[in-house]
Amino acid sequence: MSIEAGSAHDGRLGVPRPVLVAPDLLLRRLARRCPELNSRVAALVADLLATMRSHPGCVGLAAPQIGALARVVVVDVTGDSRAPDAHGPISLVNPEIVLAAGSQAGREGCLSLPGLTASIQRATKVVVAGLSVWGEDVLIEARGFEARVLQHELDHLDGVLIHDRVESIADLSPRTQPFQQLPSDETRQVRRRVVDQRGGREREEGGGHGQTGDRG
Ligand code: ZN
Repeated sequence: MSIEAGSAHDGRLGVPRPVLVAPDLLLRRLARRCPELNSRVAALVADLLATMRSHPGCVGLAAPQIGALARVVVVDVTGDSRAPDAHGPISLVNPEIVLAAGSQAGREGCLSLPGLTASIQRATKVVVAGLSVWGEDVLIEARGFEARVLQHELDHLDGVLIHDRVESIADLSPRTQPFQQLPSDETRQVRRRVVDQRGGREREEGGGHGQTGDRG
């Protein structure tokens, strides 16, 4: 098995699809492994890439977020200052974390929870094994921000969202940026609790570019 970035797609053009927002139950289900690599999987990868690129700031997306309960993710942190040694566009079918090391807190957002960001401890280095869209074995060794985004997207395949990962409600912050989608009821409820706890004042910790960027 060689160490290489997964292939972005097989050349076909994808179509941006609507992104599901919590509390859509599909986001909470276990995604299924793809038993074979076929044109449907290739089309799904292409649609994931197209959808990710249609949302500025989005650096990753998982198939359940566009309504497909399949273990497929795409990640692209190209150009992000926190990921100078990134692999470029990555698409992975049936990905699994085979090694994780280190731990660091970082703030994450999610297109499926548009009203929140969360400070989450993640491994600083991961090795992820999976298949390319052509069925080749792929092994990605990722560090820092790229490793964080991969862990976020793989969580989606197990129905895990960012607010499941925080140690306390103090690690959640309402997002103050405008959104392309209206927050869902579930997001509003969590957001309201966070705002209430903070005396009704909405504020964003950290701030600055990248602190609140969508991870997808
Ligand atoms: Zn997400």
